[in-house]
Amino acid sequence: MKKSLYDKVNLHNGVEMPQFGLGVYKVEEGKEVCDTVTSALEIGYRLIDTAALYKNEEGVGKAIRKSSVPREELFITTKVWNSDQGYESTLKAFEDSMGKLALEYVDLYLIHWPVKEKYHDTWRALEKLYLDGRVKAIGVSNFQIHHLEDLMKQSEIKPMVNQVELHPLLSQVELRSFCSEQQIQIEAWSPIARGRILDNLTLNELATKYEKSSAQIILRWHLQNDVIIIPKSVTPSRLVENANIFDFELNPKEMEAINRLNVNQRFGADPDDFDF
Ligand code: NDP
Repeated sequence: MKKSLYDKVNLHNGVEMPQFGLGVYKVEEGKEVCDTVTSALEIGYRLIDTAALYKNEEGVGKAIRKSSVPREELFITTKVWNSDQGYESTLKAFEDSMGKLALEYVDLYLIHWPVKEKYHDTWRALEKLYLDGRVKAIGVSNFQIHHLEDLMKQSEIKPMVNQVELHPLLSQVELRSFCSEQQIQIEAWSPIARGRILDNLTLNELATKYEKSSAQIILRWHLQNDVIIIPKSVTPSRLVENANIFDFELNPKEMEAINRLNVNQRFGADPDDFDF
């Protein structure tokens, strides 16, 4: 039984990463992101997921610096955006992010999307940052199996994490199994499908049974699948709700019922067909 929001998973380089955290995509820079991260840290969130693209790294860093939670208890992720990919430009983008966050290190630096012709050079930059001790772990996002195979063929270090769109309508069975064999930790983005599947009958029935919300049922399903989750909310009551998933357990039949909802439906872009 996953017992608390302080539970961690071991990445293949030995770094421990919280299994539960907050995503801040579309959370406004300034007061909104600072207040949201501050509330989350007070509730007990220890993992914060931002990106250069989100344009809110300053507020994230500010909330972390003013929090009384020791830095070593926190796990901060940021990402290099597509237009900055390439070796030198990634190193520069990293310095820009660090300047905005105003932290001494980040815990995880990710390639945001697999930009063709560029992600190999970008990865070399991430390897350098890792070997130089600037980041505790490096990984990728939106990489399909073929991207991972291609990357691993030509690189020294295997990604520690792959952050992908993952929720009951897109359960990523093959990718999860591949990553598990390779000891690449899967992290779900849009873990509750941006709130669009909360009226699903199966989820509603389970919600009634456990006196939980559909969102909590989905988040619990992810935890029991050993997936890292970063649900986003700027609503204080939802920040509490999303973290309140450690006092019940779905049985194997219920897990299977949620597995059956998969229809390979994406709400975000297709990693093999994006133009940004
Ligand atoms: P989520 O699945 O986390 O859904 C967020 C949406 O659901 C918001 O509209 C939020 O509203 C609403 N919501 C949150 N909690 C509840 C609840 N308990 N009940 C009902 N509605 C709820 O989607 P995201 O796309 O934000 O994904 C999460 C994080 O993943 C992002 O913030 C980002 O960090 C990361 N991400 C990474 C991507 C990548 O390419 N690597 C792409 C997309 C996301 P409100 O805020 O108004 O409460």
